Amino acid sequence: MDGTITPTTAPVLILLGPPGAGKGTQARMLEEQFGLVQLSTGDLLRAAVAAGTEAGKQAKAVMEAGDLVSDEIVIAILRDRLADADCARGVILDGFPRTKVQAQALDDLLAETGQQIDAAISLDVDDAAMVTRIAGRYTCGNCGEGYHDSFKTPAKSGVCDNCGGTEFKRRADDNAETVASRLDAYHAQTAPLIEYYAQAGALSRVDAMGSIEDIAADLAAIVKTATA
Ligand code: AMP
Repeated sequence: MDGTITPTTAPVLILLGPPGAGKGTQARMLEEQFGLVQLSTGDLLRAAVAAGTEAGKQAKAVMEAGDLVSDEIVIAILRDRLADADCARGVILDGFPRTKVQAQALDDLLAETGQQIDAAISLDVDDAAMVTRIAGRYTCGNCGEGYHDSFKTPAKSGVCDNCGGTEFKRRADDNAETVASRLDAYHAQTAPLIEYYAQAGALSRVDAMGSIEDIAADLAAIVKTATA
């Protein structure tokens, strides 16, 4: 915390969707296009695991099993990150909230600074396609740019288009078995948030089975309207 007060006008966007729906890819594109900050609780948790923090130690086995980390841990991590000065530009939440308790905590947190959610956008996909999408994905170890064995390979093999990096990595939980648990967790605990945000009048839905560019265009239109 550096004492910065987040302006009440900063946009707050939420991307909802099962693992593999493209939340991370799209959040990164929106980040660039609109100057917002992508907040991925998955990334924050992976960083906590890598750093060996107390929260990371508690989260590790849960993440490897494809289950949800406790609301308490995730909300604390998100709250800390939201207090960073860069978040005053506005945020795209990718992978948070994932439960009703988290959604309510987010509403309360935003209310503290007079903010509210501008849009919660559901990326609608077919579950069956998600396993293939996830099994082939990997990222640049340097800049985090996302790639896929079948759908998005670097222009020059083995070299990141974005930063020229040559080290790539795959997530430990991107395997068929864990993906099944992650999809189950999504349907049981996260999908009900679609109704939660519909009732709040903040929900938009996007068909996320098309090309990355088409989905990005649909999202950009929604974000423009929501933040106008
Ligand atoms: P992701 O990178 O969003 O796919 O998240 C990877 C894993 O981190 C998930 O399968 C969960 O175990 C954990 N995780 C990420 N975000 C949350 C959240 N908001 N609530 C609970 N667990 C989470």
